[in-house]
Amino acid sequence: MSNRVINFNAGPSTLPIDVLTEAQSDLLNYQGKGLSVMEMSHRSQEFTEILETTERNVRDVFHVPNNYKVLFLQGGATQQFAMIPMNLSTSKKADYIHTGSWTKKAIAEAKKMSTVSIVGSSEDQNFLSLPSLTELTSNNDADYLYLCANNTIFGTQFKHFPHSNGVPLVADMSSDIMSRVLDINQFGVIFAGAQKNLGPSGVTLVIIREDLLDRCDESVPNIFQYRNHAKNDSCYNTPPTYGIYMIGLMMKWIQGQGGLSVVQEKNELKAKLLYDAIDNQDLYYCPVEASVRSDMNVVFRIKNNHVELENLFVKEAKAAGIIGIKGHRSVGGLRASIYNAQPLANIQAFVDFMETFEKQHG
Ligand SMILES: *Cc1c(COP(=O)(O)O)cnc(C)c1O
Repeated sequence: MSNRVINFNAGPSTLPIDVLTEAQSDLLNYQGKGLSVMEMSHRSQEFTEILETTERNVRDVFHVPNNYKVLFLQGGATQQFAMIPMNLSTSKKADYIHTGSWTKKAIAEAKKMSTVSIVGSSEDQNFLSLPSLTELTSNNDADYLYLCANNTIFGTQFKHFPHSNGVPLVADMSSDIMSRVLDINQFGVIFAGAQKNLGPSGVTLVIIREDLLDRCDESVPNIFQYRNHAKNDSCYNTPPTYGIYMIGLMMKWIQGQGGLSVVQEKNELKAKLLYDAIDNQDLYYCPVEASVRSDMNVVFRIKNNHVELENLFVKEAKAAGIIGIKGHRSVGGLRASIYNAQPLANIQAFVDFMETFEKQHG
């Protein structure tokens, strides 16, 4: 495996070698069935077993209570930006917490259907912080309160969630789903595109409290109704079968690590190693407020936002077999995405590279 790069891509992103190896061994002939998972009918007994096992293991790993449905959909997290208001906005009023590019897109979709109140925003801090939850003034008559749990581009992450007085909390967890132990009961809906922390792109996980399924008006097209997908156990139409299979392998991998609490500890350790390296060396700095720094997307810069040196950093990293560390094109700078699948050894190798680079160029 020595020819594999150290991959810090933000998404699609690195997958555990054990998961890829298992997928490889299943590829031509899944468990002696004589065909690959990609070639199975989604109505076949073989695939139904994969779907049911994957759902069971999602529930097990993430401690999903029985009164929540687990759905595997297509269209990415971006489709959820539209499906949330289409399904939940009965009184056409929605509260949003605005913390970056992803909430901007979600708000734009909601505005097509509802009156949106921005009840908290970190825009005036260039999204390098998060609004204080104690100062949130959400509306008691809102259909839901929406937030993005982890801001992939700006490198901020909610460490706590607001108590929304019975208003269902909707969370985009695309870039930190199953990276830490959470009380699912705090949420009405959780959704995540799989390609950051759960598997390949093309499958979107939705976890929705059952009582919210009935809110949707029948005029909403069937393909966009959570209720319809729930009634059909994610098989209203052909689901993203291979992606579901891969999520299943990821769940087994998390279970094999000892479950989410162990994964969370590892993630905290990995993030600390990298943030310490940034904070303790003169050449680098992290622009994100310390108390809300993401354990998943570590955003940093070279002092004085020295763009030429940042470009050189990216170039020399690539020569050293380290890829995916350019910041998002909208913000520049540098970013290392260290999702569940990123081993500690890769972060150590990166920290060593940073030290060498500082010695040469600092
Ligand atoms: C990547 C990402 C999205 C967009 O996901 P798509 O699957 O490309 O639609 C939305 N929200 C967050 C937080 C993300 O990280």
